[in-house]
Amino acid sequence: MAQWLAAQPKTIVVQPTTLCPMDCTYCYLLERHLKQEMTPQVASAVADGIGPSWEPVEVVWHGGEPLAVGLTRFVELLQPFESLRQARRVRHKVQTGGGRPITDAWCDVFEQYEIGVGVSIDGPRELNHHRVDRGGRPMFDRTIAGIETLKRRCIPFTVLAVVSQDGTGQAAQVLDFMRDLGTSWVGFNIEAKEGANSDGQTPSIDHARQFWRDTFEWCRRNNDVTVREVSNLLGFLGLTQERRDADSQHDPIPTIAWNGDVVLLSPELLGVRSVTYDDFVAGNVLEDDLSAIVQRSDELLYVQEFTNALETCKQTCEFFSFCQGAHAGDRFFEHGTFAVTETDHCRNSVQAPVLALAELLQAKGSR
Ligand code: SF4
Repeated sequence: MAQWLAAQPKTIVVQPTTLCPMDCTYCYLLERHLKQEMTPQVASAVADGIGPSWEPVEVVWHGGEPLAVGLTRFVELLQPFESLRQARRVRHKVQTGGGRPITDAWCDVFEQYEIGVGVSIDGPRELNHHRVDRGGRPMFDRTIAGIETLKRRCIPFTVLAVVSQDGTGQAAQVLDFMRDLGTSWVGFNIEAKEGANSDGQTPSIDHARQFWRDTFEWCRRNNDVTVREVSNLLGFLGLTQERRDADSQHDPIPTIAWNGDVVLLSPELLGVRSVTYDDFVAGNVLEDDLSAIVQRSDELLYVQEFTNALETCKQTCEFFSFCQGAHAGDRFFEHGTFAVTETDHCRNSVQAPVLALAELLQAKGSR
């Protein structure tokens, strides 16, 4: 177990509220219609649980829509982390879907607490048809208005974009849009079946390959936007053979719900129930120290199954040295168990980029 899972997280995901005013058709959050908010007492317990020996951690405020908790409560939730932030042991990030306006007052908070900002937008207007409010109205203009505020205030932002079937043929248009938007970093999530999005349409690996081929080509001609998946793969190829062959440890990514419940490995497991794995909750920070909850993770069936499956991945998959086993949650959402290896997610987001780059290099070599 110790071989596969890091004892100290590098990332903690914190859910200030379950509520999201949006109703994106591919959203995985089951409780997004409920207004359940984290109290400062829970935030204090999270901060107190960050072990003194831990390396600096990124605290990602994710939701629901994190801004939906309101500015006053959000600032209250930040206070317990202040001594850690000032000692550079914690840095904050907020990932907003644009479901609440990004105002100057929010920008003041981002600046004061040195909060990294991530925005979710899927590309040009026509590719954002999944991103709607509760009345089914498009969110695009409201998200763009928030981004304009960030730009006016010179606050840098990253972008997470979901790539659905209809976006797989439009990589260049999406990346042109991202560059013109003013971001320098984009992470692409190929649509997958997760949580409440159990009916999601997952693109085929051939469509994903086309998307990644076009993405590599775009990145070859443009260097103003870093694409997470391209950067990860090129970074891996730049390693020595010895480091490429070494196993890396998975971040347990403790995700703390509004009420202090902690799930491990995958934020998407929050609020999910299963006959086999119950509620995935590893403990509650109001009752137990976060470090202790992480340390006894190997008692959980889903963690045991995932780490055993990593061993199988290592024995059987030719992509393992780059992949290191991909995401845990996708195994469960696609197959109902963690005791499997291949998923649509790993085919489309790990195997497809590798195959796409190999095809491009092969084509270049044969010219
Ligand atoms: S690509 Fe899939 S099957 Fe291969 S190592 Fe990664 S998760 Fe396992």
